[in-house]
Amino acid sequence: MLILIANLGSTSFKYRLYRMAAAGADETVLASGGFERVTDYAGTIDQALADLVAQGHLESIDDIDAVGFKTVLGRNLSGCVEADERVIEALEGFREVAPAHNPPYAEGIRLFGKTLPKARLVALFETAFYQWVPEAASRYAVPRAWHEAGIQRYGFHGASHKYVAERSAEMMGRDAVAEMVRGLYQNGPRPVAGEPLRVVSFHLGGSSSVTGIRNGVAIGTSMGFSPQSGLPQNNRVGDLDSGALPFAIKTLGLTLEEAEKQLTREAGLLGVSGVSNDVRDIGDAAAEGNKDAQLALEMLADSARRWASSFLFDLGGIDALVFTAGIGENRDDLRAAICRDLEGFGAELDPEKNSACRGKEAVISTDASQVKILVIPANEELVLAREVARKIS
Ligand code: ADP
Repeated sequence: MLILIANLGSTSFKYRLYRMAAAGADETVLASGGFERVTDYAGTIDQALADLVAQGHLESIDDIDAVGFKTVLGRNLSGCVEADERVIEALEGFREVAPAHNPPYAEGIRLFGKTLPKARLVALFETAFYQWVPEAASRYAVPRAWHEAGIQRYGFHGASHKYVAERSAEMMGRDAVAEMVRGLYQNGPRPVAGEPLRVVSFHLGGSSSVTGIRNGVAIGTSMGFSPQSGLPQNNRVGDLDSGALPFAIKTLGLTLEEAEKQLTREAGLLGVSGVSNDVRDIGDAAAEGNKDAQLALEMLADSARRWASSFLFDLGGIDALVFTAGIGENRDDLRAAICRDLEGFGAELDPEKNSACRGKEAVISTDASQVKILVIPANEELVLAREVARKIS
């Protein structure tokens, strides 16, 4: 089957065409491409489809069996579902919460529905992996009306953390857990025989989150109601005491809109370092002695450690620490900062394996380390293609 993965940003459109067969027998990327500075999504989607035909990847655009969308969060809706009017409504219901993502996905789903009326459209929400987090961990202690308006912890980067759950189980020789994770969105969590597999997954990239995973199922995550939560993000604040917002508005004389803009575009690693929202630039400045840049990196590592340790009691121990995404895969300095002084917990980073690992799958703990420390490159498009294939099979 041919599956197109559509990645819609606020001003970009990227795609990958996969040929998929049942049970992973074929997972071939046939083509990929993208457009920046998009103002007309309809024209851009037509152009992408025309390119796929012109390049010989498709005889006709009707060859596409399904289109997959990695939607962020929907009001009263999650999981891996048919991308229909219900999904569009759910995305629009939370457009304020994910303004860069929800409107383009709602529009993209509508446009693909018109352009490819025979294709199945499937949405995989980034919140899907957290459907089974216990309510005590997902609820905020807000007034009931706030809760009923949908204000709770949702969690994001679900496709990435699910891939970590599956792949780390395979790498640890826990095939029954990996198998359960594969069918998670179709079957729900199933009991797995043997000792529980306890994983802490660090997705560290432009935006970052840490998730605790027991036997392939998330028990909690650092991201909350919106992507403005958890670890300090590239230019977004991460966790902030709710009392700080009204105080800043009153004492700095900001409007709500100005405060919101500053917290979502001028905060995070950019705000602290004053250098950049990119860890490569911040790392260069830190190496040259820039104290603010050094502090920004320390804060990222510190926050990752705090969130990781917050899952310890519920997991009852840790079998694997896993690093993924741009920073997690490439920055041995941050991995070392996060894993420092963990020997007492049985986790011992191998400095040579760590510094040799960039952007590839590897075990970076010492042979004697009881806790495995792993690097698993993110492949969110593949996760989506697999989920779409399962959904339409
Ligand atoms: P996004 O979260 O936007 O999808 P990434 O997962 O690529 O993006 O993460 C972006 C972050 O990862 C940036 O801070 C960048 O500095 C860092 N990063 C990405 N690739 C590399 C690399 N090859 N070497 C070092 N850092 C990298």
